[in-house]
Amino acid sequence: MSQLCFHACMSFPTTMRATPMVNATSPSRSVVVCSLPPPSKAGGRGGRAGGRGGRGGGRGGRGGGGGRSSGRNARGPRLFKKSSGTEHIGTSLRPSANAPFPGPKGFREGPPLRFLPLGGLGEIGMNCALLGHYDRYVLIDAGLMFPDFDEFGVQKVLPDTSFIHAWRDRIEALVITHGHEDHIGALPWVLPALDARTKIYCTGFTLELVKHRLREYGLWDESRFVRIDMGDRFACGPFEVEPVRVTHSIPDCAALVFRCDDGTVVHTGDWKIDENPVDGQELNRTRFEEISKEGVTMLMSDSTNVLAPGRSTSEADVTEALIRRISSHKSGRVIATQFASNVHRLSSMKQAADASGRQICFIGTSLYVYSEAAARAGQAPLDLDKLVPMERIDDVDPDRLLIVTTGSQGEERAQLTLAANDASNRLSLRPDDLVVYSAKMIPGNEKQVMDMVNRLSSRVGEVAMGRGERLHTSGHAYRDEQEEIINIIKPQHFLPIHGEYAFLRAHEQVARETGVQHTQVIRNGQMIGCSHLRNGNVVSSGFSLLGQANLRLFYNDGEQTTGDRQDMRIEERVSIAKEGIVCANVVYWPESEVIEDVEEEVAAREVFTGRLGCRVQLTTRALFADGGKLLVTVRSWISSAVNNLPSDSSEDEVKTVVTNAISSSVWKLLKKKPEIVVFSMPGSPRMEADDGSDLNFESIGTAAAGQGGGGRGGGRGRGGRGRGRGDRRAATRRGRGGGGGGGGGGRGGGGGGDRKWPRRDRANRPDVEFP
Ligand SMILES: [Zn+2]
Ligand SMILES: [Zn+2]
Repeated sequence: MSQLCFHACMSFPTTMRATPMVNATSPSRSVVVCSLPPPSKAGGRGGRAGGRGGRGGGRGGRGGGGGRSSGRNARGPRLFKKSSGTEHIGTSLRPSANAPFPGPKGFREGPPLRFLPLGGLGEIGMNCALLGHYDRYVLIDAGLMFPDFDEFGVQKVLPDTSFIHAWRDRIEALVITHGHEDHIGALPWVLPALDARTKIYCTGFTLELVKHRLREYGLWDESRFVRIDMGDRFACGPFEVEPVRVTHSIPDCAALVFRCDDGTVVHTGDWKIDENPVDGQELNRTRFEEISKEGVTMLMSDSTNVLAPGRSTSEADVTEALIRRISSHKSGRVIATQFASNVHRLSSMKQAADASGRQICFIGTSLYVYSEAAARAGQAPLDLDKLVPMERIDDVDPDRLLIVTTGSQGEERAQLTLAANDASNRLSLRPDDLVVYSAKMIPGNEKQVMDMVNRLSSRVGEVAMGRGERLHTSGHAYRDEQEEIINIIKPQHFLPIHGEYAFLRAHEQVARETGVQHTQVIRNGQMIGCSHLRNGNVVSSGFSLLGQANLRLFYNDGEQTTGDRQDMRIEERVSIAKEGIVCANVVYWPESEVIEDVEEEVAAREVFTGRLGCRVQLTTRALFADGGKLLVTVRSWISSAVNNLPSDSSEDEVKTVVTNAISSSVWKLLKKKPEIVVFSMPGSPRMEADDGSDLNFESIGTAAAGQGGGGRGGGRGRGGRGRGRGDRRAATRRGRGGGGGGGGGGRGGGGGGDRKWPRRDRANRPDVEFP
């Protein structure tokens, strides 16, 4: 899960299917959405339910890619409600069956300062942690993470909100460092998990983003939120908290200084040292120096770019590069792509537009979301009223136009990706366009970005990108900056946060090399404690590990479904994607056949064979059909298996042998282990399809044995046994005499008989029988 937040943290997610306000700027890796019906629906009873599930899944898949993407006709982000406040929560508050948290029990037991990360350690994203003074806690951030490819159909990964809910009496406040998705994205789930009286503290711009997000989920309650300002100390649970300005890629990013009687903890949030920020709001180095003099017990710092040597470049350098590049394009439009959340970059774009005599047009709703939030917080990167409306894009002289768009990560539904594919109804590329790539390829997204860039390159005059162009800078500190902040703060204890495990280890090494005596790398769920080292007299011997919480992850599908791994059937989704799925609908009945005793000269009579006849409706997905061979073979195995059962077999027994037959036959043919869904029910060979339309039951009872071929000959063997045994017993329910006859025809001539459900021409039979 390393694709998030590397340089810009997260903007609003992009390929979310039903959130038009979100669009193409997120650095998230696009999510492969499985269009199979949700397992819960597919598991419904009865053939028809299964059929509908299949079709519904198909529609869902198409709808998922549907047109409600980033377009908008009027300025101002349109709010699309995703929930009335509770329906998106799913099972995310349900307590885990895991053992209780084995942390310190008594109020005064163990070291006084405690830290318990619920996310963000060992991964990029989902920043959410508890900082405590004994057993009174403050929650820091409530971020989400975008999923890996193997979590199909999942759009958001959330921290263990059930744990937060269980601890809601101990969590006295939530304080947010800044407005990136990996710090606020889980709020719609975290908020309901907290006590209704718990206050949430954040700076102005962050508050505007939070408000937008929570309105979308029907959760905005102004009385719970407190706007904080840099430098203004406030009481927050057991701590007095002071926000200190740091530079990053969006406005109003705060480091948090937590003070209590037992020490001071500094949490940097996401930061870099930009000596020349476009908004003039520098990292408050002086304040950090003052805080250092008070003595800092513990420093927690952003590890994202620890592997990058040296220092990050300033946004001002990017501004210069943009001005140079855009001004050099004398003829034709300039189309620039960036992370929508990077409000500072929008300021740079504005300067470049002014310098080159161009007007800006936004294509991408989330550009408006972030810009308008900044405007409401008094930090507008540009005058939104002066933007060229998207629908007037063709009225402007191309040499006077700078289009800013989202989609820097090649997200499937983003406007730039659509334009690259000549599929956008808002942006048509021209041979004299210059595309300026002012973002970073997030690790994991390289292929899809390059696919897009390759397509762009074939449609426009030039694509400007790459390190040499200096069109992007990271929002996270490089190694030398990290060293500097550790040297300034001189913490007694250092805990690397916000990063992959390897980053945390490297950051720990940086701290050791700068002289911090007590450093530790922990993982999510591990509670660590420490005490202040007073006046040089060692009170504690560094960090102590106080316990390990058994945390779960929660997953949201982008809509109103949220649950843990099991609830969301993550493994099942992956299995279906890799191994395919086979659905069988089996109707079975006691089989009979017509006996003519010529010697006794009695009329022909119908007798039960003591075996089962059956009809099978079969469909597969995501499996190699081998020109129909797969279905024919599986059908034959099912037929044999059912026919070999005694006529008084239970429904479960039928289901079991059908499942085994499918499993064995598909393994034999394809060496695959598909998901198998079997509906079985007693019936009669005369039963019509319930709705008379698409349930094309095909009688394969004895006849199918002939179809199956290949010498398995289930039908033939069965008939022989039946006649030979002479132990046929009467059954209360009549079988279909004609079925036996049809079967005979099938065996003898490969077809014919009085089949009520005529066999279709095998050559023309589709390999999928559910429409
Ligand atoms: Zn972050
Ligand atoms: Zn960030």
